[in-house]
Amino acid sequence: MPRFVGGQAAGSSQTSSQQGDTSSQTTVQANSDESVPDSGSSSVPPAGNDERAAEFAVDPSRTTWNFEAPATKTVYLTFDDGPSENTQKVLDVLDKYGIKATFFVTGMHPDYFNMIKKCHDKGHTIGLHTYTHEYDQVYASVDAYWNDLNQIGDTVRQQIGYVPCFIRFPGGSSNTISANYTKGIMTTLSQQVVDAGYQYFDWDASCGDGAEHTADELVDATMADTSYGYKSIVFLMHDGTAKETTAEALPRIIEYFKSEGYEFASIDRNTCVPHHGIGN
Ligand SMILES: [Zn+2]
Repeated sequence: MPRFVGGQAAGSSQTSSQQGDTSSQTTVQANSDESVPDSGSSSVPPAGNDERAAEFAVDPSRTTWNFEAPATKTVYLTFDDGPSENTQKVLDVLDKYGIKATFFVTGMHPDYFNMIKKCHDKGHTIGLHTYTHEYDQVYASVDAYWNDLNQIGDTVRQQIGYVPCFIRFPGGSSNTISANYTKGIMTTLSQQVVDAGYQYFDWDASCGDGAEHTADELVDATMADTSYGYKSIVFLMHDGTAKETTAEALPRIIEYFKSEGYEFASIDRNTCVPHHGIGN
């Protein structure tokens, strides 16, 4: 899959900072006068002893996000559409390499909800993808999106004790398929989620696993899509059902990034946020 051209340009200063402009840390300001649908944050239980709960719980008062690349080359492996029967396989590879990653989870496979807690307990970051992942439902209306987001937020809270602030839109913020259901919905949602204390993470590159691919093809696509050498790469992969080649390709993908001098990290509030251009 070709890299989204707008990926680094729309909301990120990574491109310009590589050209010598280091001045721009963008701050997203929430508009407290604007009515925003319930984010679910009011029902978040006490953080307890988990520092990540205090740090990563959605919080409308925390409005500063980083759009500047880190000093060292860093890749953020992200896995969408799980948990599923493939999540454990991915975890095993990450464990073997001692790497922390990020899982943008769905509610598609309730039998595997316990894997959300397991991923979190192992130190990986949990983000929200959507509950149903059905475009015609998720993007049927602004309210439908929020109902779905709150549903996956509740599911995750039951597993890890808080609703995380990190989200990923199905299809990314640049998707145009949502226009089939609601014109302009991504323009509305991309602002509302930030106002509500979330941040949406698109991706800088992917292994091209949008359809069935062999492990070899995933590795080749990884090399092709990261050849530009950005310092910060939020990297899209999938651990959903029928994505068994992800875990098979993962060791080689990790070795490739290591050979290119990248360190691995899970997403946190300091991660350079990739935003695609809004497409609807
Ligand atoms: Zn997805």
